[in-house]
Amino acid sequence: MLSVSRLSVSYGPIQAVREIDLDVPDGHFVSLIGANGAGKSSALNAVAGLIRPKGGRVLLDGEDVTGIPAHKLVRRGVAIVPEGRMVAAPLTVYENLRQCRAAGGRTAAQFEQELQSVYDMFPVLRSRRHQPAGLLSGGEQQMLAIARGVLTNPRVLLLDEPSMGLAPAVIDVVFNALLEIHHAGQTILLVEQNAELALEICDYAAVLQRGEIVARGTPAELRGTNEVVWALLG
Ligand code: ATP
Repeated sequence: MLSVSRLSVSYGPIQAVREIDLDVPDGHFVSLIGANGAGKSSALNAVAGLIRPKGGRVLLDGEDVTGIPAHKLVRRGVAIVPEGRMVAAPLTVYENLRQCRAAGGRTAAQFEQELQSVYDMFPVLRSRRHQPAGLLSGGEQQMLAIARGVLTNPRVLLLDEPSMGLAPAVIDVVFNALLEIHHAGQTILLVEQNAELALEICDYAAVLQRGEIVARGTPAELRGTNEVVWALLG
């Protein structure tokens, strides 16, 4: 469904991503893993339309969507949960979620039903729905950011390091929710530095090192290989 070919990203003279190829087939859970600074966020942000790639193409069901800005791409079915969560701190939890209604092309009743299933997945968001999002803990804000992504009703959900800065118990809650979302049929592309975590839940992964994909395969094929170990050491 999502197909990235020869994608490159540069910041002036710094080449952060070098001609990477990556497919995310319908219904699959794909991870891009790598050390700090490997280029994971740059690649994901270029796919999501948050930054313009220097070269290459992003295809969605065969249609070229390269360089379409994120706010337009979300209406085509590509949603990103960015690094650092980016919730609207002064707005309530409910208002943050309500903002997603426009993206999915649903009736008010359908949206309300989806909202309830997101609240069922993250009960803390239901109980704190009238509080400003800025008062939530880091883990709760990550849950809110994921809930926002899901509520845009995406064909593919992109996630940038959802484990970052979270306590192990909260990581468990967040990653169990991702599995639940995936088992409900959601196609996912996850960027993670924590390879063990990512390999536990994805069905296919690629390893990024200094902007290049140095290994790819199923978790069973990749776990413990030299490429993974070296890539994660930086
Ligand atoms: P992290 O896990 O730290 O987020 P990452 O794998 O996501 O790392 P990127 O954030 O994509 O890596 O960074 C890749 C390279 O591009 C790094 O060398 C980084 O310093 C550089 N870089 C990233 N963003 C910018 C920017 N806005 N301007 C200049 N250089 C940048």
